[in-house]
Amino acid sequence: MQLLDRLTAVVMAALDRLMNRLGDILDPVIRWCGPLMVALAAALIVTIPSGYTWVIAPNTVLKFSQTTHDNDDFFWSAWLGWLAHWLLLLWAMPNLVFNFAMSVGVSPGRVSAVAMSSSASSASSYIAQTDLNSSATAAELYPPRSCQPCIVSKPPRAFHCTICRSCILKMDHHCPWINQCVGHHNHVYFVLFLAYVTIACSYICAASSGPFMVCFDSPNPPEYPDNARGIVLYTFSASFAVAVAVGALFVWQLYLVSTAQTTIEYHRNNDLRAELKRMGKRFVNPLSRGPVQNFRDFFLIDVKQPWSALLYPHTIRMPTDGYTWAQLQKAGSFAVDANGAYCDNVRVGIPAGVEC
Ligand SMILES: [Zn+2]
Ligand SMILES: [Zn+2]
Repeated sequence: MQLLDRLTAVVMAALDRLMNRLGDILDPVIRWCGPLMVALAAALIVTIPSGYTWVIAPNTVLKFSQTTHDNDDFFWSAWLGWLAHWLLLLWAMPNLVFNFAMSVGVSPGRVSAVAMSSSASSASSYIAQTDLNSSATAAELYPPRSCQPCIVSKPPRAFHCTICRSCILKMDHHCPWINQCVGHHNHVYFVLFLAYVTIACSYICAASSGPFMVCFDSPNPPEYPDNARGIVLYTFSASFAVAVAVGALFVWQLYLVSTAQTTIEYHRNNDLRAELKRMGKRFVNPLSRGPVQNFRDFFLIDVKQPWSALLYPHTIRMPTDGYTWAQLQKAGSFAVDANGAYCDNVRVGIPAGVEC
């Protein structure tokens, strides 16, 4: 058993070294290719809807809406298609372009030593409270950390990005397609961008599947001239690939939002859950307030900003600075009772094992 443990440790250390070496090579490549990737994303955003609008739509939904008025069934399906077409162009595309521009243009928030020191007093207050009990606490989930390259104390949820060469507030991941990290200040824009890409590309993919089959089967379809055939094949293939890839990322992000985690925290929390289980403790994410409230927290839905705000382009000003987190401060001393039930955050200071 000891030999197996030692062997596992050696393999893990070797893998760690390999990953670090790979990171040293890949990080500069990703950094240099960043502007190119943004240009490629912009090219996809322009060319896919253009191919649909100028080549496919005139031969499908727009043509039907002009020619089938005498047949009731066709009439309604044609007008629904026509409506979907204009909804896509006038609603989804402006939202998609706006949220992409904001994801690229708004900094996720870099940890600054000055801002960190001004928030230090409030941060230390929740750390001090956590010594009251021995159950899983916010301090165990978010212990005080510092970053060597940046020479700063890292606030909870912040991580160092080796590509951006900076500590990022509430870092989710580094996205090459926007050439920066997804973090505290641009995370909402990024998720909305994924949502509108998924909607637009799913629609375009579905609407261009028929023309694609025609052009795929016939090298010279009468409906489409030679140069248009290539555009039809490209529009369907590209929209299909983007809808699948971005759709999967969107669903993943929705799961993370509903559980109040970032991508990095998801992996850390899983490790921590296993570690705490071995210690006989139970893991509870102190940031999570239930799926619906987590969505409200993430998208800043309140009286001033209703859910309908997600349907139109609008700028977002985060109400918090990304250095301190109210839920963590409240949860500083949460306990787990004898039955393993989670005590209310409000009841701070209850020792572990005590009924709440
Ligand atoms: Zn750093
Ligand atoms: Zn980054």
